[in-house]
Amino acid sequence: MSPEPEPPLASLRLRIAQATPPDVGHAARAPVRLLAVSKLQPASAVAALAAQGQTAFGENYVQEAMAKRAELAALGLEWHLIGPLQSNKCRDAAATFDWVQSVDRTKLVGLLARHRPAGAAPLNVLLQVNVEGEASKAGCAPEAVDALAAAVAAEPALRLRGLMAIPVPHADVEQRRPAFRAMRALFERLRARYADVDTLSMGMSDDFAVAIEEGATMVRVGTALFGARG
Ligand SMILES: *Cc1c(COP(=O)(O)O)cnc(C)c1O
Repeated sequence: MSPEPEPPLASLRLRIAQATPPDVGHAARAPVRLLAVSKLQPASAVAALAAQGQTAFGENYVQEAMAKRAELAALGLEWHLIGPLQSNKCRDAAATFDWVQSVDRTKLVGLLARHRPAGAAPLNVLLQVNVEGEASKAGCAPEAVDALAAAVAAEPALRLRGLMAIPVPHADVEQRRPAFRAMRALFERLRARYADVDTLSMGMSDDFAVAIEEGATMVRVGTALFGARG
């Protein structure tokens, strides 16, 4: 008989820990947070991971997340929007998510702030950066980060937590390293200016180890946890 395969969550946590370099000369590095990307996965799969202690889940589509959040409300999970956000979805997004990682233009800042329900905790915001300047991609230009950060920080209903990026998926993950490194530099500048900034979200199933080596504080992993999406 072959041995039981290790559950994906436990094995992933181990690989994340192994990729995290000790920060010699600095304060001990905080553990890297794992965001389980549950887009196109059924609520039952989310519940199964939650039962193993996973609390933070990432979704790409507002409608899909609203349904799952309602179904799993009793579990008290933390929901992150990681997909592109359209202005006509800001009202639902502001009411559904605890974090929005895909803020890339000023218009979204005002809309999310206006629609964050009264009495809710401030909505945690990451600015998505198009770090390589790809014409077709979501995300703001690196030069736009300062103005966008100031706009978020000026809204009491929002809380600026950091940056998110999806580098060009070069087949050789080593070729993604310069983009991760550029994000780290942007992140350190932002962190020096805003007290709440503590999150650099980068790295997915096939490149999270490189992202962690380059300073990611949160990785977003779907396929390696849930298997292929339906
Ligand atoms: C789908 C998605 C992920 C997860 O990708 P995997 O390769 O399945 O780990 C991470 N981040 C974003 C923004 C995504 O859309």
